[in-house]
This record gives sequence, C-alpha cells and structure tokens, in this order.
Amino acid sequence: MERSAETAADLKADPQRGNAELLLSPIGELEKLVWQRYACSGCRACISICPAGALEYDIGQNHPHQILPCVDCRACLEVCPRLLANVRHLLSSQILGNYMVIMNARSKMDYARAQNGGATTALLTAALDEDLIDCALVMGLDPWSHEPYPRIVHDSKDLKKCAGSRYSSNAILEPMKDSIKNAKNIALVGTPCSVQAIGLMRESSNEFAARFAQRVRFVIGLFCFEAYEGTLIPEISRLLGTQPWYLHKMNIGEGKISVKLRDGSHRSISLRDLAEHVKPGCKGCEDFTAKLSDISIGSTGSAPGMSTVILRTPEGKGLFDIANEMGFLEVADGVDIEAIEKTGRLKLKKDGI
Ligand code: SF4
Ligand code: SF4
Ligand code: SF4
Repeated sequence: MERSAETAADLKADPQRGNAELLLSPIGELEKLVWQRYACSGCRACISICPAGALEYDIGQNHPHQILPCVDCRACLEVCPRLLANVRHLLSSQILGNYMVIMNARSKMDYARAQNGGATTALLTAALDEDLIDCALVMGLDPWSHEPYPRIVHDSKDLKKCAGSRYSSNAILEPMKDSIKNAKNIALVGTPCSVQAIGLMRESSNEFAARFAQRVRFVIGLFCFEAYEGTLIPEISRLLGTQPWYLHKMNIGEGKISVKLRDGSHRSISLRDLAEHVKPGCKGCEDFTAKLSDISIGSTGSAPGMSTVILRTPEGKGLFDIANEMGFLEVADGVDIEAIEKTGRLKLKKDGI
C-alpha cells in the first residue's frame, strides 16, 4: 500500500477535512484519522497520557495500538498533534515562530559527545544543579546497538552520556508518566511534534492533560527536518560495511549523514540513499524550529561549533540567563536567520505544505 501522511498538506487542500468522522470512539478516531493515514508522528503523547494504559507503541507499524480497554476520557484526542482539529490549531505560516532573542551559544563544559555546541546539555546541567527541576527527559543512546531510547536523568553527571543528536526516535514522551510520579518539575528535550503535544497539554482543560502540563517547567525543542525509522542504523551499517558498535558519532547536514567510526575514520552517506527509511509521519510535518517550546536549539544558521538558540518565553530566557551566569555558556551574535527560514521552507516544500 502506498504510504502518505495526511496532515498539514491535506488541511491546506481541504480545510473541512476530518470533521465528518468525529462520532467514532477515541481510539477509533486515532486509528481512522491518524494511524490509517500514516500521519502518526510517533510522539507517544497519547500513550503516556492514557490513564487506562490502553495504548502501546508498535515500532513495526509506526503508530500505537490498543492493548487494554479504554475508559473514554478523550485525553489522547486532546494532545495528539496529528489530529486535524489540533493541526489546524497549530498551523502557522511562520518558520521561526514567536521569539524574544536569537543567538549562537555553546557549552563551556567539555562533553566529548556533544555535537554543535552542547548548549542543551549546559542548560539542563544548570537546571538540575540549581534544583530548578527534579529530572530531565532526554534521549539516550545504546552504544552497542546505536539505538536511541528515552531516559529520565536526575543527576547532571549523567547528562554527558546523553549528549549528541538522535535521528531514529522521538519517543521522549514515553517515560513521562513514570517521571511525574516522583517529580514536581521536569524539563523535556524533544522534536517539534513532541513539543506540539506538550503545547496542546498546556492548553487543554482535560484533567489528565492538565496533570501532565503542570509538571513541565521547561520545554527545549530541537530543530527537526525529518526523522528515521528503526531501520536507519542497520541500513547505515550495511551501507558502510560495518556493525552498529563501530559507529561513534553521526551528524546530519548539507544533504548527507556524516559518520565518525570508532577507529577515527570519517564516512558519509547521501540522505537520498536513506529516503525510504524516513518515518511516514514525518512526511506531513510543518514545524522545523519547535515553535511551541520555551527554548529552541539547532545547528542550522549557527556559527561553526555553536548552536542556534532561540529564546521564546520568559521561562526559557530565565533558564538561559541562569546557565550563562553560572559560566556554562559562551554566547555570540550573528545567527543566519535566512538559512533557518530557507531550510524550514524546504521542509514545507518537500511535503507539499
Ligand atoms: S486516553 Fe482516555 S480516551 Fe484515550 S485511549 Fe486512554 S482511556 Fe481511552
Ligand atoms: S501522533 Fe503522537 S499522540 Fe498522535 S497517535 Fe501518534 S503517537 Fe499518539
Ligand atoms: S519531522 Fe521531526 S517534528 Fe516532524 S514528525 Fe518527524 S520527528 Fe516529529
């Protein structure tokens, strides 16, 4: 069957799309309006928020499926960033979104695996060391299989194990249910689709959504052009004639994925050769810069060795100022805003949005 995501591009073509099918059960709505349309982003917001534990993610299918009875609370429908009613609400023609300050920044701390400046790690270190948060939700990496997995980090010393980019999972919301059991304030680092789900939680009056939103103190959003299925690492290993445990660092930019192997050699693969491994739900995604975050961070537009940092909210600026005052950050002007807008427009054009 042909795979095509139907979200923002469909809405542009038909603003009433999706309205005729709202008499289904909650899971029926997700199934018909998101999963069957290959529109699921894989953010796991519906799974994490479900009070009945009714949903589980199916990696092979690239969307959740039902495992237990539903209690019809409709929280999942409130937070899914791929339901057209929610997409309609989130859609914006801006690439950069609203912001207070934009700048280059990099960590002054030595994190060997941090890429493009390590600003995210510096901000989370400040938040944990100053007790601004009880824990941070970040993506870790199994160094053997090179598969990413979500981690709850309570001690800033553990952050350095999680530094670096992940390209084949955006499951950061999966451990959220566990993290809020013992934590009053959390920070979360996620892709724009995960950030959109948190944005929907923050706006929702649903009791389960509100319970989650109250615990999220800082949302750090990462620039995201597209993400890959779990087949990415096996395919990279195959194309390079190696095994996942010999891969050391990976970075995407300029139309290729650059790989540093453990023996110190460097290889690269054109993204065109990996196109069939892009997640189906990423093919209808309009947000490049995580416009609903408190702080957005990415490599596009930044000075060499630094990150572009976009401070969007007073809370995001407050965290940045504290990290800077603690001496964790080096800051510089001169972000290439046109480069960010150009990449954001390219993402829209690629998906026909
Ligand atoms: S969140 Fe509520 S409506 Fe959605 S599957 Fe779970 S119990 Fe059902
Ligand atoms: S996009 Fe996220 S919230 Fe919506 S169905 Fe997929 S995993 Fe669930
Ligand atoms: S492109 Fe990025 S933000 Fe968009 S759905 Fe894929 S992982 Fe999420």
